[in-house]
Amino acid sequence: MMSGTDESLRPQKSRITIFDEPIICNFCTHNVFIPYEIYVNVEQPGIGVRHVRYIAICQHCGQAKNFSDPSYYDAENDTFIWALNQYLISVREYKIKIIFYIGKRSDDKLTAFLNKLIEQNIEVENVHRVKTEVIVLATISSLNEIQTVRSTIMNSAMRLNVTIKNLIIK
Ligand SMILES: [Zn+2]
Repeated sequence: MMSGTDESLRPQKSRITIFDEPIICNFCTHNVFIPYEIYVNVEQPGIGVRHVRYIAICQHCGQAKNFSDPSYYDAENDTFIWALNQYLISVREYKIKIIFYIGKRSDDKLTAFLNKLIEQNIEVENVHRVKTEVIVLATISSLNEIQTVRSTIMNSAMRLNVTIKNLIIK
């Protein structure tokens, strides 16, 4: 089972896991932290060992938690096993561009799809239609990761039989 990431943890409100185990505050048992990377002098750096350390501040009680990045190089399989995962919980703003096809007489379908987007808290800013191709520009403020926003839109399109040509979320 491969998990984790080779990226450093970002100093943002998040839940963090080490080998899929959530980090929990020792004092209040909450699990939302802001992690900061700290630099330590290492006298004997081992081969294939990362010497990254973090101090994470519990966002409920303010206590600090120290941990290292136990990611390691698996020589047998010639691969890195990344230990840390970070799940950001701050609200983020995404820009969305959806290009899709719609039948010439499918105004109802277009309306239904746009309504579906609005239902999902997507702010539709611009709809540009040229014959059977429609370009929608929109934004969303969401706690979700980009993949979740993407699959929500894709599922709505699929349910309404809308053929997506391109979906860009940034
Ligand atoms: Zn705490």
